[in-house]
Amino acid sequence: MRVPLHILNEWRPAQTRKTGYLPIEGIMPRLTETDYSTRIQPGTIIAFSDRRAYEIIEVKERPLDLWPQHFLNEWERYTTQWVEQVVAGHNLGPQPEKATWEHRPVVIVIRPADQPTGKVKHFAVRASRSFYVLPEHYSVCRLCNEIPPCNHATTEARVEHEMDKAEKLMSIPAGACLDCGEPITSRMKAIRFPGPNLWRPDLGDNSAVFHARQDCSGGVHVYRLQWEKKGHDELQPTLPTGDPGDDA
Ligand SMILES: [Zn+2]
Ligand SMILES: [Zn+2]
Repeated sequence: MRVPLHILNEWRPAQTRKTGYLPIEGIMPRLTETDYSTRIQPGTIIAFSDRRAYEIIEVKERPLDLWPQHFLNEWERYTTQWVEQVVAGHNLGPQPEKATWEHRPVVIVIRPADQPTGKVKHFAVRASRSFYVLPEHYSVCRLCNEIPPCNHATTEARVEHEMDKAEKLMSIPAGACLDCGEPITSRMKAIRFPGPNLWRPDLGDNSAVFHARQDCSGGVHVYRLQWEKKGHDELQPTLPTGDPGDDA
């Protein structure tokens, strides 16, 4: 199975799942069960970002005097911003209260779903946070027991993606833009980097060239970082006309 690219950035289970919300006052009060969303309760199976399945044992409020420090910091920041907004003339309704704040910490007590007698773990999470909820008959990878796509599958997809990129780079003809691979005509503005070509050493010195246009600026940015790292700081790429990122 080919792993879609977006999974490389943010993992989510490849199998059927719902979005689960915590059964906490003030959170999704009128939530109805649908094919896509559900209310988390004891017995619900969730997938965590470690790609493992956990059974929910209990969800409970965290007493105000036991808030973890980063939640206190967040609350501080949130109320400060709230006051600033109101002072600036925005009508935000009644002032939020700490005890019912939608981002307050609640504790979920969970246990590995495949270890019914295993040790439970306590986690403080935002009340507003949602989870991936798996069906009772969820699937795991036969090799590593993770919820697919497992780390191996993601790594494989990443390598494949890098290889596709490398293949595309190797097919760019001499004198063409190293970002888009298209030719650069004499009337087009270009950015040329002096020195060895870091991406295509086979093309020789002073051959790294890009279109000086927005579409190709991603490649220029990445190349410039690598080029500066290589100690070419004293040289400047020719024709960086009005490059806003260049304050040299
Ligand atoms: Zn695996
Ligand atoms: Zn280009």
